[in-house]
Amino acid sequence: MKVCTTIAEIQHELANFDKERIALVPTMGCLHEGHMSLIEKGKRLADIVVVSIYINPLQFGVNEDLDTYPRPFADDVKACQDAGVNFIFHPKNLYPEHGIQVGLQVHDLSQRLCGANRKGHFDGVVTVVNILFNIIRPHLAIFGEKDFQQLSIIQRMASDLHMQVEVVGANIIRENDGLAKSSRNRYLSNDERQQAKEIHVALRLIQNNANQDSNINNLLALGQAYLKQHNIAAEYLTICDEISLEPITNMQANTLARIFIAAKIGTTRLIDNLPLTNNNEEQPCV
Ligand code: AMP
Repeated sequence: MKVCTTIAEIQHELANFDKERIALVPTMGCLHEGHMSLIEKGKRLADIVVVSIYINPLQFGVNEDLDTYPRPFADDVKACQDAGVNFIFHPKNLYPEHGIQVGLQVHDLSQRLCGANRKGHFDGVVTVVNILFNIIRPHLAIFGEKDFQQLSIIQRMASDLHMQVEVVGANIIRENDGLAKSSRNRYLSNDERQQAKEIHVALRLIQNNANQDSNINNLLALGQAYLKQHNIAAEYLTICDEISLEPITNMQANTLARIFIAAKIGTTRLIDNLPLTNNNEEQPCV
């Protein structure tokens, strides 16, 4: 495995592979089993796996954790090495010295869920992912369903802009008690960690009570009541169409519905989601 820190270096390396399929796994580092599952998927679907580790300033809001975001780079290198990654791309900066003048913008898909309270976040995400695609020119790129809205937006970007890359989703990897693995989980105190697991339990409660005749408002009220019992105030708890990400008001036979939540536990903002309908791959883990 080679660590490349400049664009010239990674492009020079990748120029050696004109027949091989290249998979890109974009990350911000602080790698955990969630990231590792993306890497494993990349290894199954491609010949060469490139992991980018770049904390993208453009996707952080002013009061967010850009400065304190964990950066255990040596551990990340070891994890990638052990996982059989071919290249880590770890640039210092991906933007022009005096700031970027031209970026990408997401329309309606970024207005709801996480986008509603994180203005500009998804514009920052698609801009950096586009830059990474242009540098690496991967055949496929793998993103986790943990950030389902991000995955949807990037799939839409690739399709709207006719990009020559296949954007592949990967299941959410969870702790034993159901909490979705996240680099930000390490911010949680022991008590907060206990509270955090209830986020997933609330989603399961909604999922287990859903059927064709379910009233969406009743399902959401059930989830909200459970969260309240555990002193969790959700930033949002909503059931949306998986494709449009629009909230749905009633269950229809062919709607792919998904429950989405964001909640702060202490000062740590966590997100999760679960398919509402049972024709999905993700199996109960609690
Ligand atoms: P991040 O480093 O947080 O930007 O995440 C990099 C990629 O890993 C994104 O595509 C995430 O959706 C994905 N990811 C993060 N956590 C998980 C998880 N628990 N399960 C699956 N994918 C994940």
